[in-house]
Amino acid sequence: MHSHHSHSGDYVAHGADPLEDITARAIEMGFATYCLTEHMPRINSKFLYPEEEEKTTDQTVALKKLSSDFLAFLNHASLIKSRPNPSNTRFIIGTEIEGCDEEHIAYAKKLVDQHKDTIEFCVGSVHHVRGVPIDFDQEGWNRSLALCDNNIQKMLLSYFDLQYKMITTLKPLVVGHFDLYKLYLPPELKIDPRTGAVSNDPDSVPVSTLSLIDQWDSVKESVVRNLQVVRSYGGLVEINTAALRKKLPEPYPGKEVCELVKLHCDGKFVLSDDAHAVPQVGVCYRQALKYIVETLQLSHMYYLQSGTNGVVQVKSMPIEQFKSNAFWSGL
Ligand SMILES: [Zn+2]
Ligand SMILES: [Zn+2]
Repeated sequence: MHSHHSHSGDYVAHGADPLEDITARAIEMGFATYCLTEHMPRINSKFLYPEEEEKTTDQTVALKKLSSDFLAFLNHASLIKSRPNPSNTRFIIGTEIEGCDEEHIAYAKKLVDQHKDTIEFCVGSVHHVRGVPIDFDQEGWNRSLALCDNNIQKMLLSYFDLQYKMITTLKPLVVGHFDLYKLYLPPELKIDPRTGAVSNDPDSVPVSTLSLIDQWDSVKESVVRNLQVVRSYGGLVEINTAALRKKLPEPYPGKEVCELVKLHCDGKFVLSDDAHAVPQVGVCYRQALKYIVETLQLSHMYYLQSGTNGVVQVKSMPIEQFKSNAFWSGL
């Protein structure tokens, strides 16, 4: 089995358990590939999270800590990768891109290049819309919607435009949680279905009754545009079970995006747990299996494998082989 995206409490403030414990659990569960992809450091204090600021009154100190933690992560991950283990779990070292804004996208390019001997691939993620985090809490999500004129269509376009900048600049091998904006989307929020504006007019409808991707041509075209870029450089889209762990009905991305991935990105999906703690290693994988086999009816699953020359390789396996993996009987 595989996971292409994970964190730990050692190197990110919102993580819970040490990297050693998380990797020990991945070995215990018999993962074949487990990718360690700590967040890249953010370089502007306006993107610090409250838990990163609370330990110091000095934002420069907080930013420096992000940088030094990241270097410590790369060293620690290298050590774990080099150690033999009883399951022959292969650890691949990556980083999760913080596509906060153009400054961070440019910085990510520099950083990855600087550490190209250690960082084997990137998970390309966007966590912000108009400079505000959309996956931290409801208040932030609401603020970011307000900055998009309280219009869902505009919010989605803003998200996908930033994702486009990130993927065209960085060509991340794996695109992270493609539809992250849905995490705090209130299902009962009423919008005008024609424009996407939040509205209490009689013809407004709860947002959960609409297919957000298909509702507006502009949004669908943005998704297709982004997926075509990902396809052009051989990138992969992760099915990320963190959404299931957070009680959403589908993983990231949902079925409507996945159908477009099939059409415009050759259905190249990899699986990720996005674990931040030991109990999150392989979390909701059985639900993900059902989603992959029954809902999406994929013919293949893709995964990364460490190459002998240090270059990570993209591999695929037929779905029957994926379904019969010994991992499932151990769950
Ligand atoms: Zn993320
Ligand atoms: Zn993550």
